[in-house]
Amino acid sequence: MSNRRRPFALALAAGLLVATASCSSDDATAERSTTTTADAAASSTTVPALEAACEGKRRHVLVVGIDGLRADSIEPAEAPTLDELAASGTSTMHAYAGGELGTPTEQGTVSGPRWATILTGTWSNRHHVTDNEFATWKLVEPNFLQRIKDADPEARIAAMEQWIPVRVLLDGAADRDDIGAGDLVASNAVDELGTQDPTVLFLHFDDVDHAGHDTGYGPDNPAYLEAVASVDGHIAEVLDAVESRPDRGDECWATIVITDHGGLGTGHGGQSPEERTIPFIVTGDGIEVAEVADGPGHDAVAPTVLTYLGVPIDDEWDWAEPFGVPAS
Ligand SMILES: [Zn+2]
Ligand SMILES: [Zn+2]
Repeated sequence: MSNRRRPFALALAAGLLVATASCSSDDATAERSTTTTADAAASSTTVPALEAACEGKRRHVLVVGIDGLRADSIEPAEAPTLDELAASGTSTMHAYAGGELGTPTEQGTVSGPRWATILTGTWSNRHHVTDNEFATWKLVEPNFLQRIKDADPEARIAAMEQWIPVRVLLDGAADRDDIGAGDLVASNAVDELGTQDPTVLFLHFDDVDHAGHDTGYGPDNPAYLEAVASVDGHIAEVLDAVESRPDRGDECWATIVITDHGGLGTGHGGQSPEERTIPFIVTGDGIEVAEVADGPGHDAVAPTVLTYLGVPIDDEWDWAEPFGVPAS
């Protein structure tokens, strides 16, 4: 298939990556960051890594949304896929939900508003979703999937979600939109990848949040960690399907792992570190390896997806900088 992407001039922001990379006390982390610095410095004299990796290839993004995933519960869980995703790309275990404290963007760590933030690249003060009463939502900001469709009507958008309000937030932007349990989210994603050509595949898994509500969020609860391990298996299935695509060699894929909030006790909604602190992983073809100490808010997901795809971002949208992908 022809490359229908627009020319995409990437101003190399390797320096930006380096500037935000972690100065961790962890030796292994420090070593990774050092390696990244060297790689970035080398690539800055040649071709940006993303451009080099994706030249002449069609770009795709897989967004893996895991509802209610605490950042401190990936490592203790039996989650080799998430571990590998984090280690192979740009990642942080210190991104945040709930807006910026003390500013108009501060808002509860509630699912509906937070998925609205992931999908629109704005906080509740702009998208006006403040609760889970989705029947009364009035969406005033387009989601990023619609913005991609607006820029490229041929782009195929597929979504599988476990929680119906996410469909409301998708607002008809998806060419395919399936609702079902976690195993169905995975199997439908595998089907999509095997039979269609999605530019963006957006997945929402809810069982980790269910486990948190049922028996408690966090690494001290084996049932919660078991739920993380279970979704890790689903993600592995989906990634296998990406790698098995017949034209995989002609494609560039990024995978983003994100969540809407963490949790404390058996709930969420407040501004405690346990509820606010979230993981944010961006990995795939052309993505630098870096562990970032202080990550962005999950309002950076939308600009990250568009930037990777080469879809222009309008200054008027007033979006955050992309994460893990050099800003254009
Ligand atoms: Zn949630
Ligand atoms: Zn919840």
